[in-house]
Amino acid sequence: MKERGYVRPYDKEWRRRNNYYNRPEVKRREKERIVRDIVKYKARWAVAAEIRYRGLRRQPCAACGASNTHAHHADYLKPLKVRWLCVKCHRVEHARTRRGLGV
Ligand SMILES: [Zn+2]
Ligand SMILES: [Zn+2]
Repeated sequence: MKERGYVRPYDKEWRRRNNYYNRPEVKRREKERIVRDIVKYKARWAVAAEIRYRGLRRQPCAACGASNTHAHHADYLKPLKVRWLCVKCHRVEHARTRRGLGV
């Protein structure tokens, strides 16, 4: 998703002028986002390692049966608890749970 994180130049300028990035609440939010991303990456790595070393098999889409699936994590803190979903169903799932496009 290329559109995500796109900031209009005007907004960027406004933020810089208003010292937006140095505000404590903004810094805190940024830090939380980074921690969340690390957990997310770790969950992906865990699945990749499981496929590679322990022979975990990719499954067809749990919703429509298509192949070429992603491992979807309902909870990143349970890295090996995944649901296999194709790109389309994966999008739908994330739209439904309103968590953006993680994996
Ligand atoms: Zn599907
Ligand atoms: Zn997902």
